Amino acid sequence: MEPRNVLLLNRSFEPLQVCDVRRAIGLLFTGRAERVEDSADLIRSPSVALFIPSVIRLQRYIQRPPRQTLSFNKKNILKRDGYTCQYCGRNGSERMTIDHVVPRFLGGKTIWENVVSACRSCNTRKGNRTPQQAEMRLPQRPSKPISALYLTIMAQSARHLHVWQKYLPAGAVRSLSGNGKDKEVYPCNGDGQSPFLLS
Ligand SMILES: [Zn+2]
Repeated sequence: MEPRNVLLLNRSFEPLQVCDVRRAIGLLFTGRAERVEDSADLIRSPSVALFIPSVIRLQRYIQRPPRQTLSFNKKNILKRDGYTCQYCGRNGSERMTIDHVVPRFLGGKTIWENVVSACRSCNTRKGNRTPQQAEMRLPQRPSKPISALYLTIMAQSARHLHVWQKYLPAGAVRSLSGNGKDKEVYPCNGDGQSPFLLS
């Protein structure tokens, strides 16, 4: 079974952190938090069986901790993209590479908005071409995560995200339903043609 993580909300329903099940159950049993969403998985002890929480909420409002630094590096790009190839949807952290959407060869920059996770096969196939030239689709425009917390949230499996999504601000995490269906065309800084092929 995949590791179970729990989304911890402030009293105001604002997401605070992702914690492990042990900490979440500790907060529930000491009355410091309440259940908001349960998962479908049971945890059993000799005397009790209970559903593992998926989202919990603190009973008292706490001031937000200082924001963590958001570093721009391969590890965090993979986290943002859920360790998933943005072209074919293949998942796997070890073999994932970083692709420049607009290749450096064509002046593309190494910034959040121009890099995506790609499997070796898609990266090789795309080569020094834009997605449009290579006729490869991106489900959505890459962007800078709004905070380190949301980067951690984005690294979670789709199973978690489907439950958590309604507690997150709109657009804070990648769309879970827009795989190839997003018709928006994103502007290009060069010849007016979008480098992305989205529909
Ligand atoms: Zn791929």
